[in-house]
Amino acid sequence: MAQVTFLGFPRIGLKRELKRALEAHWRGKTGASELLETARTLRQRHWQLARDAGADVVACNDFSLYDQVLDTAVLFDAIPARFRPVFEKGHLDGYFAMARGHKGDGVDLHALEMTKWFDTNYHYIVPELEAGQEFALRGDKPVAEFLEAKALGHAARPVVLGPLSFLLLAKTVDGSDPLALLDALLPAYAELLQKLAAAGAEWVQLDEPCLVLDQDGATGEAYRRAYATLAAAHGPKLLLATYFGALGDNLALAAGLPVDGLHVDLVRAPAQIDAVLAALPAHAVLSAGVVDGRNVWRSHPDRVQALLRRALAAVGSGRLWLAPSCSLLHTPIDLTAENALDPARRATMAFARQKIEELRAYADALDGNAAATTALAEQQAQLDEQLQAHGIKNPAVRARLNALSPQSTLRRSPHARRALTQAEARPLPLLPTTTIGSFPQTDELRKARAAHRAGRLDDDAYDTLLKQEVEHVVRFQESIGLDVLVHGEPERNDMVEYFGEQLDGYLFTKLGWVQSYGSRCVKPPVIWGDIGRPAPMTVAWSSYAQSLTSKPMKGMLTGPVTMLQWSFVRDDLPRETVCRQMALALRDEVHDLEAAGIGVIQIDEPALREGLPLRRADWAGYLAWAVECFRITAGGVRDATQIHTHMCYSEFNDIIEAVAAMDADVISMETSRSRMELLDAFVKFHYPNDIGPGVYDIHSPRIPDQAEITDLLRRALAVLKPGQLWVNPDCGLKTRGWPEVEAALRNMVAATLRLRSELKLSA
Ligand code: GLN
Ligand code: ZN
Repeated sequence: MAQVTFLGFPRIGLKRELKRALEAHWRGKTGASELLETARTLRQRHWQLARDAGADVVACNDFSLYDQVLDTAVLFDAIPARFRPVFEKGHLDGYFAMARGHKGDGVDLHALEMTKWFDTNYHYIVPELEAGQEFALRGDKPVAEFLEAKALGHAARPVVLGPLSFLLLAKTVDGSDPLALLDALLPAYAELLQKLAAAGAEWVQLDEPCLVLDQDGATGEAYRRAYATLAAAHGPKLLLATYFGALGDNLALAAGLPVDGLHVDLVRAPAQIDAVLAALPAHAVLSAGVVDGRNVWRSHPDRVQALLRRALAAVGSGRLWLAPSCSLLHTPIDLTAENALDPARRATMAFARQKIEELRAYADALDGNAAATTALAEQQAQLDEQLQAHGIKNPAVRARLNALSPQSTLRRSPHARRALTQAEARPLPLLPTTTIGSFPQTDELRKARAAHRAGRLDDDAYDTLLKQEVEHVVRFQESIGLDVLVHGEPERNDMVEYFGEQLDGYLFTKLGWVQSYGSRCVKPPVIWGDIGRPAPMTVAWSSYAQSLTSKPMKGMLTGPVTMLQWSFVRDDLPRETVCRQMALALRDEVHDLEAAGIGVIQIDEPALREGLPLRRADWAGYLAWAVECFRITAGGVRDATQIHTHMCYSEFNDIIEAVAAMDADVISMETSRSRMELLDAFVKFHYPNDIGPGVYDIHSPRIPDQAEITDLLRRALAVLKPGQLWVNPDCGLKTRGWPEVEAALRNMVAATLRLRSELKLSA
């Protein structure tokens, strides 16, 4: 009979118990033993939960106190020399020092880098390697967690990041090829496999998600060498796990490796089923990832059962495993906690626990269980019925979408013309100064918001407080001489949730937490129906702020791509369609702001780049609709209305043309940490519109002095024309304190004034 299993489970806990335990430990409130006790309790609770939901085999060693890639680095002793002394004091201290940096005892160790895990919103710690690096098996985490599960009576399969993905996701400090370290690394993996076998593990899951990426021939050769070594190591049977996309041109490679089973993602890439079945060796197990590990929706029995019937016919039930597409790390834990949701909506949703229950039903149905078959038929009927539910389809939104034409993406004139009109409407000095939108979210503001939500502070009192804050922010900006002001965003909890709450088509969960990195979690809002905008969302705040000053006040919106990227998105429409709906709703907001006299409007798109597909071949398609959606949002406004956009990451070299195609009048971006090196892209590509490369790093409490800002601006002027350059920080200021912000912005204005007079003299 087909087995139910999974690649990994969320570890943070339903009520974010791990977050609390970690943060208490980091504050020095609790010792290691309390933290480890919480961790153990969570692991054991989650194994039991998965078993009760119907898993035959549970994943183990999927748990992590911070991140599974960091765990792998520490497991194989890939510990940079600077952290070794901290490890000598204690393993946990060393481990957290690598993740978070370490200050004290006269040392100041910077943490390892962190970056996004493929195209998810999870961030992993990037191992730091160097040429000639040695590896060794250190500690026994995978073995210990396997024994822990086994002692509780679970059939458990340890999960370990595979050697190739480990190396490919790492970076070398000396720029050497990480794959050159493979031969040094493999003996440590082999030793681990032997220990797992000795502990009684029948299988081990080696995650190689890099197999869904574009890769070169040398990498393929490295996979073959590595897996030949591991297959000969006398360890447990090997399950090679791939996810987040199709194997595509790597299928022959993956299927040809000497492993005993292959996991494939049949949610992102259902079309690969036939090719996978054809390529799978006769003895190998197929782990079919048929339930989406990355969203919050129930699966469609029609689709899943069609895939499973094909798989069953090809491999037989003894060689077929049923699993979510990827680790369930990217979903919340348990929908039963969401008792405030509309029952009709809830019936269409599934979190980690429900996804395992679904897999159980699929397996039972394959086995001829009539009750399971009926339940799945009902599930399909319910999903079909819910497609007609009120709110899913908004006829007005659909009609507008149908009427969309290329015309909707256009401004009235090209940028060069618009720039003249804008300069006439709002004369600004050379090198205009501005900020990215938010000002410090003080404790007072946070407390007031919490009190307002809890009903302890009434609307009027809350409103008065926010208005005072806006006024304070406006007066401050005037006093230091900024040119284009912002209202400071004190009314916003979060740049996506704030808009989601005012749009049709969104719902919100109570405990739908998903780990972002370490102890940090996000609770993405859920798009379930057509996006509509019943009423203006930001006009009152922007108008109020504008009424306080004669300087231009910048309206502030989150762009359609970012709204999509940071939400759970419905799965019954293509993402690009949902994004166009969002763009239309935001376009209405843009027009209402314009009508209310707001002449400068910023549409933030910090998540545009992170939406890029994993395979290069898919980039153009994504960028086409992402740029189109931005242009729909900004389209149709008067020439005098100046559209800004903001992006946090500026590794734009490879998408610079798409960024230019957005045709924002002004773009602000992050460049200060690379000392404007990111502007090199603009040497080859002459960006036509205005740019504000961030002149200081708001992610650090350090206050930049005037000289260093001047220096950065000079570097920018080497690449950009003076008439093109704006002056602003890297990102919003909400995480900073007022004293830092005051000092930094004063220095920014002073540096600008100095450069302005220099430019005038030379002119
Ligand atoms: N306007 C937002 C702010 O200043 C932009 C935030 C972001 O780019 N992540 O906070
Ligand atoms: Zn930003």
